[in-house]
This record gives sequence, C-alpha cells and structure tokens, in this order.
Amino acid sequence: MRLFLGRILFAGLGFILATVGSAQQPKRVDDKTLRRPPADEWVTYGHDYAETHHSPLKQINASNVSRLGLAWSFDTESQGAMEDTPLVSNGIIYGTGAWSVVTAADARTGKFLWRWDPEVSRSYSKCLCCGPQNRGVALYKGTVYVGVLDGRLAALDSNTGKLKWKVQTTDPDEAYSITGAPRVVKGKVIIGQGGAEFGLRGYVSAYDAETGKLDWRFYTVPGDPSKPFENPELEKAAKTWTGEWWKMGGGGTVWDAFAFDPDADLLYVGTGNGGPWDRRWRSPGGGDNLYLSSILALKPDTDKMVWYYQTTPGDSWDFTAVQSMILADLKIGGHQRKVIMQAPKNGFFYVLDRITGELLSAEPFTNLNWATSVDMKTGRPVETPEARYPSGTIMLQAGGGGAHNWHPMSFNPNTGLAYIPGQNNPFPFGPDPNFKFEKGKQNFAIAFKRPADFKAPENVGFLVAWDPVMQKERWRVPYKTGFNGGSLTTGGNLVFHGASDGRFFAYNAETGEKLWETHISPNPATPVSYELDGKQYVSVPSGRGGANGPPAKVWTFVLDGKAP
Ligand code: CA
Repeated sequence: MRLFLGRILFAGLGFILATVGSAQQPKRVDDKTLRRPPADEWVTYGHDYAETHHSPLKQINASNVSRLGLAWSFDTESQGAMEDTPLVSNGIIYGTGAWSVVTAADARTGKFLWRWDPEVSRSYSKCLCCGPQNRGVALYKGTVYVGVLDGRLAALDSNTGKLKWKVQTTDPDEAYSITGAPRVVKGKVIIGQGGAEFGLRGYVSAYDAETGKLDWRFYTVPGDPSKPFENPELEKAAKTWTGEWWKMGGGGTVWDAFAFDPDADLLYVGTGNGGPWDRRWRSPGGGDNLYLSSILALKPDTDKMVWYYQTTPGDSWDFTAVQSMILADLKIGGHQRKVIMQAPKNGFFYVLDRITGELLSAEPFTNLNWATSVDMKTGRPVETPEARYPSGTIMLQAGGGGAHNWHPMSFNPNTGLAYIPGQNNPFPFGPDPNFKFEKGKQNFAIAFKRPADFKAPENVGFLVAWDPVMQKERWRVPYKTGFNGGSLTTGGNLVFHGASDGRFFAYNAETGEKLWETHISPNPATPVSYELDGKQYVSVPSGRGGANGPPAKVWTFVLDGKAP
C-alpha cells in the first residue's frame, strides 16, 4: 500500500487529484457509456443498444427474491396511464407520465427533484388513438430528451429539468403524436411518431443532440409520385402501391422500437401499419405497400437503407412491426449468427440475420388464424383464405391490438430465452362499404361488428418464455387480462412482470416458477433494475393517474425493504 502510494506520489500529484476528481464527478452518459452500459445503471430505454431489457445485476436472485420489499414509492401525479421504462443514471431516476411530463427523483429514496411539463393542450386528445401516455426519455451528456405528444422534441438539463432546446418534429396542422422514447446514436437523437390512422405519412428523424438541428429524415412510405422521391428506396417502394395512396397518407408511422448495432453501424427502425387499415381503400390494386410493417436497417450517419424485411406485406389488420427488437449473437445450425429478433403484432417470432436481413426462422408464438406459417423461401406469411375478410365479419387472431404490443420483451443471455408479454385477443374484421376518408380523424375502413355468439378466451394475456434458436415455447404464464406490462430479466435468473390487475411478479427465468408476488397499482409499465451503495433495486411505474384512476406511482423494491 505504502509502496503503491509512493509510486503515485512520485508519478505526480496531478494524477491523484485527477483520480479523486473523477470519483466525485457525476457519471455522464456518453457514446462510450451507451456502447458499454454500466451494469449498475439503466441509461437507455432497452438497457443497452441491443434493447435486451436485461440487467446483469444478481444480488436479488432466485434464492432470495422472496425477501423483496418496498424501498420507496413516488407519486408521479401523472394524469393518465404510465407506460414508461424509467432511466437511472448517477443516482437519479428519470421517468415520464401522461402528457409527456418528465420527472426526476433520487433513485435511493424517491425524493422529488424536478418536473418538466410541456403543457400540451388537452385538446390534443382528438389526435390520439390510444391516450396521452409516454414511454420514456433518452440521456446523453447531461441532457434528458423527451418526445412530446404534440410532436415536439425537447432537450432538458438532467440536473435541473431546465429546457435547453425544443424543436417541432411534425407538421403541427396534422394529427401526428409522439409517445415513444427517443434514442441517442452517434450524437443524434432518433425519434419517430404515431398516428397512422389519421391520414399521415410515417417517418423517422435524426436531430443533432447538441443543437436540435435536423440531420436527416427517412420517410417509410412513398409520397405523391408526381413530385420527386426523397430517395431511391422510396422510388422502389412506390412500385408496391396502387391508386392514390398518398391522398390518405399511407401510414407506416415509427411509434416505438429502435435498436442499434455499433459494430455493424446499423440503426434498426420498426415501422407501423397502413392507413386506412383495409388495403382495398389505400391501395385498391393490391401490392405489398413498402415499407409498412417492416424492420429497416439504416446507416445512422446518412439514413442510407442497407436492408429491409417486411413482416406483413399488404397490411390490412393494423399489424405494426414497431414492437421491441432485440439484438443477440446466437448459435443457429452450428453457426454463430448476429441476429435481430422481433415478435410483432402479427404473432410470429422472427429471427433475422441483422447484417444482411436474411430471414433465419419465424414461428407463431401464440394461436393465430390469419396465417398458418411463414414461407421460408419468400419470407411471407401464408395467409388463411378468410384473413383479408372478403365479406361479413370474422374474428381474427392476432387482432388489431396485436399478439404483442408496446410492452417490451426482454432477453436473458444466460437462459437464451426471450420473455414476451402478449395476448390472445381476437378482433372483428369486416369490410366497411360506407367508409369515407377524413384527414385528421381515425380511418379504419373496417366494420367492427363482434358476432353475438363470440366468446372471449378465459385467459387473454400471457407471458411466454421463447427459445429463439429452437423457435419453441419453454414456459408460459397465463393472465386473465391482456395488455400486461413490459418484462425485465436479470442476472439473478429472474423475470419481473406486472399484470394489468396490479399484481407484480418475479419468476424463475429458467422454469417460469413464480417466486414472488406483490400488489402495486393496476396497469404496470416496464420494470428496470439498478444498484446504488451496494444495494440492488427493482423499480416499476404503474397506475392510470387522473381524477378516477389509481395513482400513477413508481414502485421501487429492495431486499428486506420495509416501506409501507
Ligand atoms: Ca395503429
């Protein structure tokens, strides 16, 4: 020790000061942090660029999780449902509530630090399909980024919540909305938007993280072909559309998932459904309607598209491919493959080569009657004869709510399993001969008539542990309700997941055995885990807030926690 100190002193006092200084300096999230996220924090939506929603922490594990108790809870005073995945950096937990309100609290105690309210006009609810919720923020170099419901992107000081800059990412006269969390990739803030049913054209944008200046914008569907196409990819896409689709926008909004592979330098973007839903109105001569319901691999510096894979050609069911995408390296057929995995609304679990876009496998992860399988030669689903509801009304599974929706799935590299929160929620589809397109309003072109004799399944929701190599279910937990929370998996061989009714569970990640259960407020969002002062915490936002809903709180658990 003495020798060691002596050497340091000999090396110079400046070195010691620098060392002490850095120990006290706040940890900043920069490109290096995002590439190699620290195990004890949660610095980006999916925990890491691979979007695993996996925390390597293992202090809380399968043998002691029964000792979990509440450390603290914090009322976010959200006026609407919580859907966020909180971020944790430098001892602060950042979350969002409804109407894009951002809150920061002490991650040890839940003590309130600051709140930023973008004061979105409540009349904006007419532009929303599904409520004013928000799924979270991004952190980068002392700044918190949030997509605001009315299409703004805001940059806040991470210590004070003070606005640094804001930019309107959408045409304010159109019914675009932002509910998804931004990501920061190579100094750019990546953000999309929702509203495919409102007569809109989807796109993804990249803004300079420092200045808020627009760097690039990639439209997911072609615009009016009498005007020049923005890029050759859209010129190619236009050949897969018919009629005058651009008058109805087309859809393809980018409302949730992204992933990034820094080594391949590829940004993965999930695109949404077609608008209106029924293709016969949008593209009357048929066609695949690229790039709806697709995974796009873009170069993040230039927005050049390297490959695409369309999960649902010619979407007619609100089958988005914006559901969580996870990157992993898997041994498939004796070869190590760099893959991207997605379980989109349409109910198939896809494994693709994430460098080339080659389809490696696809199997249904739940009961489906709109398609039987995916043809491995063409990469297309094999649709059932009734899938496109030629006449009358048919109950189709997956339904418009999707076999999997925004609730993030997680992937545990130790078990090799993906944990998908999904539902069997058949939905009535039928042609609507009286449909009239109205810009700025929701356009379905569907007659939603539930047959009188229809019986809903007893267990609508589930959490399924999926083996992506074997394309097989390993275990499944049924829930009476659908639309349960997102999943978290940890190095402690655990999966945390909340049911809509307000129960919050820990399962053995290997076997699915229920190891712990508690009751929080209904409608849980997505849990995260972090460690401070040698203690591991598990934190989950939950509740609907507002005048009549259960309080929208962040609930944080620790071993032997004793908070009431
Ligand atoms: Ca939709």
